Amino acid sequence: MNLKQLLHHFTNELIAIYDEQEIISIFNITVEHISGFNRSQLMLNADAEIEDVKYNEYLLALSRLKTGEPLQYVIGDTVFYGLTFKVSGAVLIPRPETEELVDWVIERCGSDQSKTLKNGSILDIGTGSGCIAISLKKNLDNFKVSAIDVSESALAIASENAQLNNAEINFIHADILSYKSTEMYDVIVSNPPYITMEEQKAMHKNVLENEPHLALFVSNEEPLIFYEAIAEFALRNLNENGLLCFEINEYLGKETVQMLSDKSFINIELRKDMQGKDRMVLASGMKL
Ligand code: GLN
Repeated sequence: MNLKQLLHHFTNELIAIYDEQEIISIFNITVEHISGFNRSQLMLNADAEIEDVKYNEYLLALSRLKTGEPLQYVIGDTVFYGLTFKVSGAVLIPRPETEELVDWVIERCGSDQSKTLKNGSILDIGTGSGCIAISLKKNLDNFKVSAIDVSESALAIASENAQLNNAEINFIHADILSYKSTEMYDVIVSNPPYITMEEQKAMHKNVLENEPHLALFVSNEEPLIFYEAIAEFALRNLNENGLLCFEINEYLGKETVQMLSDKSFINIELRKDMQGKDRMVLASGMKL
C-alpha cells in the first residue's frame, strides 16, 4: 500500500465521524508524525510502497481515530502558543482560546513598569498539561512560575512538558478547594473546570468520551465553585497589586465579574475570545 491508497483507506474509515477536509488534515498530521514527511514530501512519496513497520503504525493510529479518540491523543502531542506539548487522556487538550488568555497575561505583565511584576511570581492553578504555566515561563523569563494540580497523572505530563520545553516550573500536588499556603504571588492564573452538567449534554462525543471529566465539569448548582475558591486563595496569597486571571464559561461572564466584585476585587475586566464569546476575566487589585 502507498500513501495515496492509505488516504483513501483513512477516508473510507473515518467519513462517518469527520468531513473530508478534516480527514485530509488528520491524515497529513499523522503522516508527518509516523513517516516524518511534511506536505511536499508527502506528495513526492505518495506512490512509494509504505514499509511494514510504518504501515502497522498507521493502522493502529487509524483504529484509535475510528473510535473518536482525538488526533492529539493518538499522536501524543499538540502545539500551544508555538510550543510542543505532550498530551494523554490524563490532561485536557490545550484549546486556542486559552492561548488568548496567555496572550493577555503576557501583555499585562510585559507592559507593567513596576518592579514587582517584572520579577514577580506566577501561580497556575489546575495546570493540566502545563500549557499555561510553561508558555508564561517561556515568555516571561524573569518570573518564578509555580503550578498546581489535583491530578498526579496530569502533573507527570506537565513535568515532562516543562523538561521538553526547558522551562523551570515548581509543581505542587494539591486540591485548590482545600489548599493553604503562605507563599505570596504576583499573578494567579487559572483555567479551571467550568462546563456545567447541563451543558455537558451538548458536548461533542469525542470530547466526552476521551477528555478528563475532572478537568471539565462542575455541577449545575455550583458552577463557580473553583472560581470562588481561587478568589478566596487570591485574597490571602496575591500581592496587593497582583493580577488574578481566569478563563471562564462564556455564559458566566457577568456572574464571575459579580462574584469577584463581591469578594472586593477591583479593576475587573471581561474579554471576549476570537469567536466573540465572553472568555477571560482579569482583576488587577483588591480593596483593602
Ligand atoms: N474550553 C474547554 C472546552 O470547551 C473547557 C475548559 C474548561 O472546562 N476549563 O472543552
